[in-house]
Amino acid sequence: MDIISYTKEELENLIVVLGDKKYRAGQIYEWIHKKHVTSYDEMLNVPKALKEKLAEIAPMNAPEIVTFQESKIDGTRKYLYKLYDDSVIESVFMRYKHGNSVCISSQVGCRMGCRFCASTLDGLMRNLSAGEMLMQIYGIERDTGERVSNVVVMGTGEPLDNYDNLIKFIKMLSDESGINISQRNITVSTCGLVPKIDELADEDLQITLALSLHASNQAKREALMPIALKYNINDVVDACKRYFDKTGRRISFEYSLVSGQNDTAEDAAELSHLIKGINCHVNLIPVNPIKERDYVAPDRSAVIGFKERLEKNGINVTIRREMGRDIDGACGQLRKKYMSKVGEEDEDSRTNG
Ligand code: SAH
Repeated sequence: MDIISYTKEELENLIVVLGDKKYRAGQIYEWIHKKHVTSYDEMLNVPKALKEKLAEIAPMNAPEIVTFQESKIDGTRKYLYKLYDDSVIESVFMRYKHGNSVCISSQVGCRMGCRFCASTLDGLMRNLSAGEMLMQIYGIERDTGERVSNVVVMGTGEPLDNYDNLIKFIKMLSDESGINISQRNITVSTCGLVPKIDELADEDLQITLALSLHASNQAKREALMPIALKYNINDVVDACKRYFDKTGRRISFEYSLVSGQNDTAEDAAELSHLIKGINCHVNLIPVNPIKERDYVAPDRSAVIGFKERLEKNGINVTIRREMGRDIDGACGQLRKKYMSKVGEEDEDSRTNG
């Protein structure tokens, strides 16, 4: 396990086992989770012998920033990180009036297969560790010199498909002896793994659950999201109700509008009926087209029309501000582009060599 993924207690146990003083754990934890160092060398008050022993058992494995793109429209930055095993992942930094927000990835790739999503095209490579999720935020704070106050787990991957690491990540992220981000400022987005939503509701966390609904009925959801074949839309919505009942946290329903697929007046009516009476908020996202599929977003007036229909039915709705549209903003697009470029270079070197 990488040292970044150790909780303070786990670190204390490790250090005691290695025959050193318990208080060293606090020092090391602070270097990593408050000062955001990326190597043992930077931990100035920790003895060299201990650092060498630790580096063997629990390497630092800090993700490195390979590149970033900055939007000329709104300053959004999309970062590409390389992990210790050469996998690449994306994270996004967004500036809002209420503070800075980072969108992190939870897996390398994804196996959920949503039709409109670029992150799932090559399937799942592996889960990210709690440390690899934390370091996406620490690296961005270091790079921008700005404090991050909100975290959304809405990048590549299905967070509830990497459940244990996700829970550990949330606890460490909101730990007072670390970066100390309030759980109320953390959102986890899921395509709807029903048993995991129930498990999450029992964790006694104050995070927001965002449910990727994207359709108003079972047949339409199946056409966009293969996970709907496993969990029926009504069961998913019921799980969200239970989540609210247990946690008191308002549900956020994500709805990517796809022209001709889920954006009609009947869809708006059916959706209103489906979520009626739930303490929730609907986030409309005009679909971000990917070149591998021919889905397109409805035009602006149709998006506004859809919003107004929901509002007439008493539903809270916002249209997601499309941050960084000029920088391969859609989930997984920068990573995909980078990987195909690296692939081409490999081929070139083969033909040349
Ligand atoms: N697996 C999780 C989180 C990652 S995706 C989930 O499904 O919620 C984050 C959000 O972006 C989801 O709502 C997803 O459906 C949406 N999304 C992915 N690709 C998109 C695209 N091309 N256009 C619009 N929304 C997209």
